[in-house]
Amino acid sequence: MKELVFATHNANKIKEIQNQLIDSYKLIGLTDIGLHEDIPETADTFEGNALLKARYVWEKCGISCFADDSGLAVEALGGEPGVYSARYAGLQKNDNDNIALLLKNLENISNLNAQFHTVITLMLNGEVHHFEGIIKGKIIREKRGNHGFGYDPIFIPNGYDQTFAEMPLSEKNKISHRARAVMKLIDFLNHA
Ligand code: IMP
Repeated sequence: MKELVFATHNANKIKEIQNQLIDSYKLIGLTDIGLHEDIPETADTFEGNALLKARYVWEKCGISCFADDSGLAVEALGGEPGVYSARYAGLQKNDNDNIALLLKNLENISNLNAQFHTVITLMLNGEVHHFEGIIKGKIIREKRGNHGFGYDPIFIPNGYDQTFAEMPLSEKNKISHRARAVMKLIDFLNHA
């Protein structure tokens, strides 16, 4: 069995992906390899941040590794909040504050097209591979729904009537940006 690090402290994220992987990989997290700190995300693209995190683990531990970075990109705001999605309204990283600021910045704008974006970067034996997942949709001006997190209450994916926060999590997880990137990663690893 080959060990593969997922550069996250979130045990649920690790479990979800382990369940979809063939037996030749044992997925472990940052805590399992003694990395308790948060890896700095200082790049200005999703790909750059995912690569920073994956490379950090590879250089420190020499174990093959993957990392993800996600966010919301709003067309009329030139792709904002983008890589700053978590800290859009400040370092307190508060979902309600972030949504309030986004809606304020969209007040006089009629184009509400947006997309969620995930990049997963895999460093397998020192080689870099990127996997991308995107879901396009629209921002609404009032929050709807209680599931999910982040910008879910104000995002309706194209072809649906419900926001991500109104959908059952199982439905969001079939179509989300993250699910799409994860599917590509799993497919690659299961055939590598
Ligand atoms: P992360 O890279 O997965 O930690 O995502 C960074 C930030 O992007 C989150 O803190 C959220 O603000 C936003 N975000 C990413 N994915 C989602 C999602 O599925 N729903 C809502 N917000 C998201």
